[in-house]
Amino acid sequence: MTIIDGKEVAASLRKEIAAEVADMTAKGAKAPYLVAVLVGNDGASQTYVGHKEKCCAEVGFRSTVLRLPEETSQEQLLAEIDRLNRDPEVDGFIVQLPLPGHISEQAVIEAIDPRKDVDGFHPVNTGRMVSGLPSYLPATPDGILSLLRYYKIETAGKHCVVIGRSNIVGRPIANLLSQKGWDCTVTICHSRTKNLKEVVASGDIVIAALGKAEFVTADMIKPGAVVIDVGITRVPSDKTKSGWKLLGDVKFDEVAPKCSYITPVPGGVGPMTIISLMKNTLKAGRKEIYG
Ligand code: NAP
Repeated sequence: MTIIDGKEVAASLRKEIAAEVADMTAKGAKAPYLVAVLVGNDGASQTYVGHKEKCCAEVGFRSTVLRLPEETSQEQLLAEIDRLNRDPEVDGFIVQLPLPGHISEQAVIEAIDPRKDVDGFHPVNTGRMVSGLPSYLPATPDGILSLLRYYKIETAGKHCVVIGRSNIVGRPIANLLSQKGWDCTVTICHSRTKNLKEVVASGDIVIAALGKAEFVTADMIKPGAVVIDVGITRVPSDKTKSGWKLLGDVKFDEVAPKCSYITPVPGGVGPMTIISLMKNTLKAGRKEIYG
């Protein structure tokens, strides 16, 4: 059994991106420029945006965080998006989710110019992805693909069971793994799936993205399966200084001995997500997808 080391893969890709940026700028091109828009004071969002800023600095991108107050109206936010869409200096930008309840996330996502949509959430990018055209891939699914690629995990003809059908994880990873090149036979499970245990136990590759701590137990896993745990749930803990710890969707200690490969939480899929955002920003800087 191999524990997939997301930190190692992320560090290796970060180095590659930094080398490409150094090469670009040495040839006189400007460094890719990412803007993150943060509305309100959500603690987790501030931490995520902080990590993104730090990673941009590490790979040599220019980055700015546009901080807007909690009471920003949807109209004001859309006006900022319009300004970023038209700013020729900005290669890509993200609007950190979740947004305050009075703002429609879908309206915001659809207002972003697909050419600058480095989160890959705009329906134009989703549509291009589903059609197998070049697009900005959503970060978490792309991170999973990078892990499979790095560890040279065979996917062709394998039965991949994805638990969860969200627009940001389950549905896109299921679609991508069914495409030519990855060639999985994919089953998507959700909260209405019948015989979930049996379906998951038939998976050669299981991707757990349902957000229920330690939901996947050893009896649900075929011996030798590859298990990718996307879930992150914060639970109270008296063993940590912070008073909480992170758990995945997989009961790691009992599932790991049955697997060929497994991702831990933390340190598996998590570190890959930011790297995929960096990959998309590099593509945006090079005008690789839309010219
Ligand atoms: P989400 O939008 O809440 O979607 C959860 C999906 O799981 C839904 O499709 C839901 O089915 C399904 N589900 C819920 N309970 C189920 C059950 N008992 N049996 C089968 N399916 C069930 O969640 P998400 O945004 O995709 O995120 C999933 C998890 O991944 C969360 O823990 C999140 O924190 C984590 N995450 C991690 C990263 C990372 O970087 N590692 C990135 C994104 C998300 P229905 O559609 O029927 O409701």
